[in-house]
Amino acid sequence: MNIRNFVIIAHIDHGKSTLADRLLEITGTVAKRKMREQFLDQMDLERERGITIKMQPVRMNYKFGGEDYILNLIDTPGHVDFTYEVSRALAAVEGAVLLVDATQGIQAQTIANLQLAKKENLKIIGVINKIDLINDLEKLESLKQEIAKLTGQKSEEILTVSAKTGLNAEKVLEKIIKDFPMPARMTEVIQSGGPKIDLLNDEKPFRALVFDSHFDVYKGVLAYIKVVEGELSKQKLINALATRAKIQVLETGIFKPELVPVEKLVSGEIGYVATGLKNPELIKVGDTLAANPNAKPLPGYHEPKPMVWASFYPESADDFDLLKDALAKLKLNDAALHYESETQEALGRGFRLGFLGMLHLDITAERLKREYNISVVITMPTVSYRIIDKKGGVKEIFTPADWPDSSFIESIEEPWVKLGILVPTRYLGNVMKLMGNFRSIYNHTDYLGLDHLILNFDMPLSDILVDFHDRLKSVSEGYASMNYEFSGFRTGDLIKL
Ligand code: GDP
Ligand code: MG
Repeated sequence: MNIRNFVIIAHIDHGKSTLADRLLEITGTVAKRKMREQFLDQMDLERERGITIKMQPVRMNYKFGGEDYILNLIDTPGHVDFTYEVSRALAAVEGAVLLVDATQGIQAQTIANLQLAKKENLKIIGVINKIDLINDLEKLESLKQEIAKLTGQKSEEILTVSAKTGLNAEKVLEKIIKDFPMPARMTEVIQSGGPKIDLLNDEKPFRALVFDSHFDVYKGVLAYIKVVEGELSKQKLINALATRAKIQVLETGIFKPELVPVEKLVSGEIGYVATGLKNPELIKVGDTLAANPNAKPLPGYHEPKPMVWASFYPESADDFDLLKDALAKLKLNDAALHYESETQEALGRGFRLGFLGMLHLDITAERLKREYNISVVITMPTVSYRIIDKKGGVKEIFTPADWPDSSFIESIEEPWVKLGILVPTRYLGNVMKLMGNFRSIYNHTDYLGLDHLILNFDMPLSDILVDFHDRLKSVSEGYASMNYEFSGFRTGDLIKL
């Protein structure tokens, strides 16, 4: 079978979901009358806010050069709070289309997502979008060169498209077919004491990576999988290796993007399996599903570290169990969400939740309300602090209520991040001036082509959380963009107010 699995990655708003629309149209996956803008943004919340929150897989069929192809596309979010969605999608595919908005050029998430794709050894093709908005051909040429340098292509290989008008969108499909490799036919050679046996993946016992999931009232947990070896069909007995859950397969299917049952999924394919499991905790994203309970687990994912903490309490104490159930189900669909139960005197029983950022928190509260009809009281978001007491004990606290009396405290540590700010050279002065208002430490500068720099700083996470991003945008007229990652705890001169 001719299969290509790929993602579209880019900075937020560079047109990933719109390019996906054109690919869905050209391949006839979505009928014209059903088509709407950013079709793959299926959640109401995504449509209202105009952003992609969830990765969304979709299968397209396409005939090219007399051959039939199956193209599995995973559309991904661009906002830094949802990077975990991107990294999981990357592990399920062989190629990445790196999309760059011609009017914006390369931005922070362009680089951050490109680096993630390189780490997964994906084949990468650069595509410039929104060329309907560009007249300056010289500028376009230099952007091509910048992108080619990043992707390791020749600059004449960089495609220029308009996802809006559809100009050159077919060329993207053609390049995907030509440049992206087939899923591996052989993952490893089996050496079983005697003579060496080379087994094709199709012939091996079933193994698949779970890259996402959601809860279905009728079919239980649906696991989104990339089949690495063997094949899977209804009735088969399989195992979730990490949780030891036994699964009798209710249904196998593909994303069109709505769920469509198929008789079987074979190695290299992306699809879903309905497990019938009612307990959401039995399927973990990153786990391996396998025919053999003692099979070797596939490399999973590093669970992301929560950055921001807030406690969620049900408005009505009777709803505690509802909230608990809702969080378990939401976690299936949002693997970056972290939660554990806690009790506070004033608020009763609730949960402490960990998020990747403020937008993630905001979206989670909104999804609880919309998808589970639960209203919650949310405490003030905060980073966590490590309190080192006079006896050398260390305690991580997540709420000011747990801050000990100062007589017990030897020192306090707070989380720091490595912050990269990508900025056109002409805003350099403004950005440096802004940074002077924060507890930031300048580290070094990377030069990206002629008029772009990445300024690297170390900074306490709490300084970034509130309005830093808005202020960065305003001093750079929207042109600067940022990316950050946790770098460790550092001692700070901190008191509770
Ligand atoms: P995403 O965040 O990368 O998924 O970006 P979207 O696909 O949601 O697009 C962001 C915005 O850019 C939307 O308003 C699109 O209509 C617009 N857009 C996308 N592609 C093009 C294009 O080729 N030309 C123009 N003029 N606008 C585009
Ligand atoms: Mg999108």
